[in-house]
Amino acid sequence: MTDWQEANRSLDYLIRLHRHKLSRTVSLASEVQVQLESIFSLLDDLCTVTCPWCPDPCCLLARVWVDFKDLLFLHLVGQQIPPSQLLADLNSACRYAGPRGCLLLRLARPWTCTWYLCPTQMTRLRQKSIPVQGKFSQAVQAIKTGRKEMEDEFIRVVS
Ligand code: SF4
Ligand code: SF4
Repeated sequence: MTDWQEANRSLDYLIRLHRHKLSRTVSLASEVQVQLESIFSLLDDLCTVTCPWCPDPCCLLARVWVDFKDLLFLHLVGQQIPPSQLLADLNSACRYAGPRGCLLLRLARPWTCTWYLCPTQMTRLRQKSIPVQGKFSQAVQAIKTGRKEMEDEFIRVVS
């Protein structure tokens, strides 16, 4: 069994074992999902006008991975778990970087991948209206806070 499979099996076991005490944790994960989904269309818009012409796609250089909060979130919201961790090793590109972009659903990507906006995309974002920018910033902050609370609550319950 790989480390990835072992981590997922352990997390699945803990969630099943403590399911009756995890309602607040699940609720926090659901709130994170709502906030994430509220920014996906904006992220899609930014990607549509930048990524297809990118000379240096960030995903080929990125050294990111699914962290504990990402994995916990996926389990709690019932999202399909990616079959493997992103990197086979630190010399490899992300295994989900396809010729037309990321092969994972937005919801299944690590939070790092979601919030990262390259300089070109940041420039595009700053051209959006102030309310759009403000809504985006608020959602990002809510997601960061929600992920932390979700993790803290989970650890409190299972400890
Ligand atoms: S996010 Fe930016 S750097 Fe990454 S592929 Fe798109 S345009 Fe290129
Ligand atoms: S998971 Fe997707 S967005 Fe994140 S580095 Fe890999 S290909 Fe890029």
